Amino acid sequence: MSKTIQDIIDKYNKDRSRLMDILIDIQEEDGFISNDAINDIAKGLDISFVDVEETVSFYHFFSQKPTGKYTIYLNNSVVANLKGRELIKKIFEEEVGCKFGEVTKDGLIALFDTSCIGMNDQEVAAIINGNIFTRLTTFRVKEIVRDIKAGKSIDEMITEGYGSGKNNHPLVKSMVTNGIRRRGLILDYNYKAFSVLTDILPKSSPTDIISEIKKSHIRGRGGAGFPTGIKWEFCRMADAKDRYVFCNADEGEPGTFKDRVILTEHPGLLFEGMAIAAYSIEAKHGILYLRYEYKYLHKYLEFVLKKMRENKFLGKNISGIEGFDFDIRIQFGGGAYVCGEESALLESAEGKRGEPRDRPPFPVEKGYLEKPTVINNVETLCSVVKVLQKGADYYSALGTKNSTGTKLLSISGDCNYPGVYEIEWGFSVRDILEMVGADIEKTQAVQVGGPSGVLVAPIEFTRTVCYSDLSTGGSFIIFNESRNLIKECVINFTEFFIEESCGSCSTCRILPSLMKSKVEKILEGRGVYQDIKDLEEWGTILKSSRCGLGQTAANPILSSIQNFRHIYEQLVQKGKDYDTGFDLEAALQESSRAVGREAKMN
Ligand code: SF4
Repeated sequence: MSKTIQDIIDKYNKDRSRLMDILIDIQEEDGFISNDAINDIAKGLDISFVDVEETVSFYHFFSQKPTGKYTIYLNNSVVANLKGRELIKKIFEEEVGCKFGEVTKDGLIALFDTSCIGMNDQEVAAIINGNIFTRLTTFRVKEIVRDIKAGKSIDEMITEGYGSGKNNHPLVKSMVTNGIRRRGLILDYNYKAFSVLTDILPKSSPTDIISEIKKSHIRGRGGAGFPTGIKWEFCRMADAKDRYVFCNADEGEPGTFKDRVILTEHPGLLFEGMAIAAYSIEAKHGILYLRYEYKYLHKYLEFVLKKMRENKFLGKNISGIEGFDFDIRIQFGGGAYVCGEESALLESAEGKRGEPRDRPPFPVEKGYLEKPTVINNVETLCSVVKVLQKGADYYSALGTKNSTGTKLLSISGDCNYPGVYEIEWGFSVRDILEMVGADIEKTQAVQVGGPSGVLVAPIEFTRTVCYSDLSTGGSFIIFNESRNLIKECVINFTEFFIEESCGSCSTCRILPSLMKSKVEKILEGRGVYQDIKDLEEWGTILKSSRCGLGQTAANPILSSIQNFRHIYEQLVQKGKDYDTGFDLEAALQESSRAVGREAKMN
């Protein structure tokens, strides 16, 4: 076994559940994870080759083949495409001298596509050796490739200067900007950090805290909207010695980037929220499950945790409360959207493939390492701090009756002011479009809630953002009238689901690809009316999939058929009941070209 691998395994105490960390370290050290490395890890952890290999093969950011000394992941989000990604991709290929998915012959540069990296407000963006490059232009791409070939470091390549706020911090040094356009309770400048830990917890019992959270009616901000206080209460009631608090920071829903901004500007608020959850359920361990795309924040977040330990906000007897011992560690994912689903996240945190578990049991009963676990979204955990600081009555007076408090939105696409906006629940789509400087008359559609959400048509712009109407994790993408909704939005989102399916259910593995082909057939003018009906029927079957990913994978197609049916009906052939979609003449032309003959159709 190589010394490096042995050292890495020892660093994680030969703990099988730390397999993700071990693989990340080896990937970063060697640029790939070879079969020899897999063998060594398996021996070192006393598990099988397959146990390791199946985890390696699951995640986008692990590679079993050598990648380049410089690895470029170009974001493939819808908004990146609206902002000219295709041209940027072409220039990268020309300048680098290889196609996407390949490594240059000298092993210097590798080019890869990747799903949304949380930078929709500053597209076109790419990750280069773990660092984010934003607002790429053709000029910048040429310059970057020139710099790489000249052997420059990433720091030397960032000519724009560093971004706003903590992006400027010596431990971040990123060109990302925060784009905070509207502040509210969570993004408040004047927040007195850790005052709940110092002033409120010592005077309250865990059940007092849970009662206050329940009274505020706050619900999970990740999308499912489960009442936070009830979740904590269930976990507290579970019969166990150990309990865990997880923060789900796997912000993978395309179009969402507000958690990135919280993690950059208010990480202490989040960690305080985790400590409050720990106090309430009597947990000693917290894990921030962070998407690999945000690795550039790692050193800074560790620094914040260290400061908290020094100030006794983490560790033993926090705030002088006897027995309140709690600490947090950061667990990175490896690039898999499905790990945003809480049970898949737990599998991943245990070092396995991120495949969703069957439920029940729910994580509050049997979660991480089979122990009761509370999993909350970044924004939820920040919000509970504010609930306790301001009081449940104050908090529940914000928003609407069933959706209390504030909500952060990540707004991108065709508007003047993309960025992060904190609103009270209950804003209408029209209010939001006005707020962000979109031309309402020229807005064709708004995608609320990312690919798994709804494509809203102008006739519905009076609908409101709240749990009982347009419930959203925070993604809000605007399309103006110049956009081809089916081609630029629906196809991209469907490809995203195809790419991100974990493959364990046949419906989710097969139907999105078939549906995409059918939509493409319609786009090519070869569709018939029956194809629209087939899409609706298959979309309904897809809803029987095992987890939320499969259950919502047809949403881009179903939602666009429901709200923009006229587009599909204009595209399908009239008076024709059947078309295989096979273009005989084009196929003949192609094969004739291949063999150097003249094509003849009789
Ligand atoms: S629905 Fe899709 S992502 Fe979810 S378990 Fe099934 S195959 Fe995996």
